[in-house]
Amino acid sequence: MTFYQRRLHVLLIEDQQCQVELLKVLLESQSFFAVQLQVTRTLAQGVNRLQSGIFDTILLDLFLPDGQGIEALRTVQKFAPHIPIIVLTAATDLNMGLAALQKGAEDYLVKEHLRESQIAKSILYALERKKARRELQVQIERERLMARILEEIRQSLDLSVILQTTVDEVRKFLQADQVVIYRCYSPRASRILVAAPSSSLPANGDRRHIPERGPDSNGEPTEPIPCQTINSLRQLPLDEITLGPRAKDGVLIIPIRPQKPHQEDCLWGQLVVRVGDQKRSWLPWEIEFLCHLSSQVAIAIQQSALFAQVHYLANMDGLTGIANRRYLDHFLEQQWQKLAKHHQYLSLILCDIDFFKQYNDTYGHLEGDECLKKVANLLKKVMRRGTDLTARYGGEEFALVLPQTNKQGCQNVVIHLQSVFKQAQIPHRSSIIQPYLTLSIGSATMVPLPNVPPKQLIDWADQALFKAKKAGRNCHFSFAD
Ligand code: GH3
Ligand code: MG
Ligand code: MG
Repeated sequence: MTFYQRRLHVLLIEDQQCQVELLKVLLESQSFFAVQLQVTRTLAQGVNRLQSGIFDTILLDLFLPDGQGIEALRTVQKFAPHIPIIVLTAATDLNMGLAALQKGAEDYLVKEHLRESQIAKSILYALERKKARRELQVQIERERLMARILEEIRQSLDLSVILQTTVDEVRKFLQADQVVIYRCYSPRASRILVAAPSSSLPANGDRRHIPERGPDSNGEPTEPIPCQTINSLRQLPLDEITLGPRAKDGVLIIPIRPQKPHQEDCLWGQLVVRVGDQKRSWLPWEIEFLCHLSSQVAIAIQQSALFAQVHYLANMDGLTGIANRRYLDHFLEQQWQKLAKHHQYLSLILCDIDFFKQYNDTYGHLEGDECLKKVANLLKKVMRRGTDLTARYGGEEFALVLPQTNKQGCQNVVIHLQSVFKQAQIPHRSSIIQPYLTLSIGSATMVPLPNVPPKQLIDWADQALFKAKKAGRNCHFSFAD
């Protein structure tokens, strides 16, 4: 019965026959472990053997015909970075032994003083030390990866970048076949947001941008989607929905749950790691590592949602809930550049409520506010395309931006708008032209030019609006008119 349960595979690289014989005898006579010994006489043969076999330990003579000293050690380390190496030195060259230790050898044995128990202990200690060093190395790598991802999270407010980095790094680090982040929207709706490798996304994978990022690039500001509560997710039909980490059949599922103050925990989504080997057991540190990572991702999600909310609020008119002047300017600028590049039309409609001062005087300022909300809703109804924008230009003036719309298209929208307004019949008893609320409308259409500012279009629409006021209100003028 040996102390060590397993038979140890030892590679001895030694050119002197007498040393080989001696080591064979010593290894066979020690009682700590059973040995399977392989011997090569040169460094080249040793390297060859390392490439074809699996060894627990290497005993390396530092005076070989084709390699000496630290160079020989380096060569072996290159081909066997994870196998402990014990070097053999002569009594006259103890410095060489020490140098080898400094360069990563686990131990050195002096050829003239070899004893069976000493060599056995040296091998066992080398094995344990190497194992401990490997574990430390993995721990360092884990911390480095965590730091890298955290750095990414700190540097970026772009959630899709953060999530993609996370899945890419986790896949590399855990050598997984696939790493995916799912977003759970509601009890019945979840979808893959990011995957590594990205080619593993399902063909019908819906990869629209992530909603939490705030205002749409070409449309009205989008409201951030709130997280679902745990309760609503309990009804999920998918048995993959889980509130704690779960490992099964080569799949590890880690929930992503941002903590919200004064709120129940909510399941935002899941980090799912898959490996081909269904029998792969997940180590406790792997689960712990991913849970920690998931909590950091959850913080990033919260930050990003907050950013989106701030962005949304900064771009929305507080009274009417449509885009404000700030977003209008940003949107116009964006569309201006885009349409200039594609030589396409851009139309702008400015509407001003007639006699609104009298409206306030008659019904009171609060009713005036309600009236502005009604007008904003009517204008939103008029807009048909997802790329159109309704905005409050200021006071009782509104703007409609119609990308890719020529003069005729713009005219059609105005006619529609006028008819919707006529039907709405919002009472305005102090208006001197009608007992209902009316609008004066000015519009302008042009193909944007990159060296002309969008202000040009606003000026033209404003001039047209002025004409409509002059002409008696409740009418439309286009700039070219
Ligand atoms: P016109 O037909 O020439 O456009 O006359 P008007 O009275 O509509 O235009 P004027 O520019 O003289 O007055 C605009 C009024 O709109 C005055 C202002 O108090 C009111 N107003 C602007 N913003 C708000 C708001 O947020 N709420 C309310 N209730 N009134 C507002
Ligand atoms: Mg006005
Ligand atoms: Mg007015």
